[in-house]
Amino acid sequence: MNVKEKLSKIHSNIAEACQNVGRNPEEINIIAVTKYVSVERASEAIDAGIVHLGENRDEGLLQKWEVLGDKPTWHYIGTLQTRKVKNIIDKISYLHSLDRLSLAKEIDKRASGVVKCFVQVNVSGEETKHGLEPDSVLTFIEELKPFQHIQVEGLMTMAPYTDNEAQLRNCFQTLKKLQLEIQNLNLAYAPCSELSMGMSNDYQIAIEEGATMVRIGTALVGEESEVE
Ligand SMILES: *Cc1c(COP(=O)(O)O)cnc(C)c1O
Repeated sequence: MNVKEKLSKIHSNIAEACQNVGRNPEEINIIAVTKYVSVERASEAIDAGIVHLGENRDEGLLQKWEVLGDKPTWHYIGTLQTRKVKNIIDKISYLHSLDRLSLAKEIDKRASGVVKCFVQVNVSGEETKHGLEPDSVLTFIEELKPFQHIQVEGLMTMAPYTDNEAQLRNCFQTLKKLQLEIQNLNLAYAPCSELSMGMSNDYQIAIEEGATMVRIGTALVGEESEVE
């Protein structure tokens, strides 16, 4: 299947997930994660109708940015080293991996405009995963108040890699609950209305549990080895 066919399959899966829980599919944004694939493949995704592209390394983002420029809306979805902030911060619209104050400080210093950020939460508690513990998210967000260039759009998590549906739902529900708690504080700098959760193997479940942004790589643009 080419990207266009894969996208159409994903659209119908999203429609089904939305229908299951009475949501409007227009609430869901698809981020095509192009970290595994070439700029040609990323371009194919844009031609198929994709608006949002996600990368998890500064090299990958810069390489594609050189060619595609501002055509897509750029999302940085990986762990971001503080010293790399200056390379990419004015090229992206969204950062999905805000997880520490030192990073917030550097973003605030380097960005020329407001960066829409997701606070990354390690819901599953796996040691290999980045992000804040759920218990420390609220305090962390309160500490972000002084930073003029940071807007907390929402929360992000990576679910454990598992087929255990109950475990996945539990993870997404925890993030949703936390997101509502913060949204209800009505903080001007942290509207926190979005939920970045769901990847190739779990996006339908994530949508049923409230995701507004799904980050899809393999199921949409494939992996490099599949590119002809
Ligand atoms: C790679 C990656 C994805 C996409 O993963 P797939 O399973 O290929 O869809 C989503 N989010 C993050 C943070 C990633 O690093």
